[in-house]
Amino acid sequence: MTTAENQLRREIIETARALQSTGLTHGTSGNVSARCNNGMLITPSGVPYEDLEVEKIVFMDLEGGYYGDFLPSSEWRMHLDIYRTYEAAEAVVHCHSPRATALSTHNRGIPAFHYMVAVAGGDEIKCADYATFGTKALSDAMIAALEDRRACLLAHHGQIAYGPSLNKAFGSQVKWKHWLINIFLRWFWENLRLFLQPR
Ligand code: 13P
Ligand code: ZN
Repeated sequence: MTTAENQLRREIIETARALQSTGLTHGTSGNVSARCNNGMLITPSGVPYEDLEVEKIVFMDLEGGYYGDFLPSSEWRMHLDIYRTYEAAEAVVHCHSPRATALSTHNRGIPAFHYMVAVAGGDEIKCADYATFGTKALSDAMIAALEDRRACLLAHHGQIAYGPSLNKAFGSQVKWKHWLINIFLRWFWENLRLFLQPR
């Protein structure tokens, strides 16, 4: 393993742990990857983030072959399809942040109600149609929702984002976390107003 690969593995672990410490994910849910040597490095499936070590990060080639003693994240298809489709993608972060996941259950995208929507690269954040986790169908739905975008919701599941670095892919998730509260406040006040209206 080269020093550069070793460093990338460390950064993946740091990013995965930051998902937890920032409240973007709970338990072993969520996964992180980075492009590496004609393939990608990805977090292993179901390993608690505090138990991650550089040797447990899994290398996969672009055909989906994996190497080592640990199974790659069950969501490896989504990560791999992003690297195959978008040359600019160097890192991918998938998680189930409470607000984005709640929104995703409405099966609708997020319109341009707030300037931070542009973080995803367009005037709307789309919501990928529901499909079972880990399937090609989910990955296909995600690729469709990511057209001209760097992030999307995954219906009844969570969110995914890619970027030119681990910091950027993670950073866009953190930004979501903060501004999604605006949507909830807006819905709350709207519903309260309707509720208080004289009948
Ligand atoms: P893994 O532990 O296999 O990465 O799965 C977590 C997850 O987010 C499933 O959607
Ligand atoms: Zn998931």
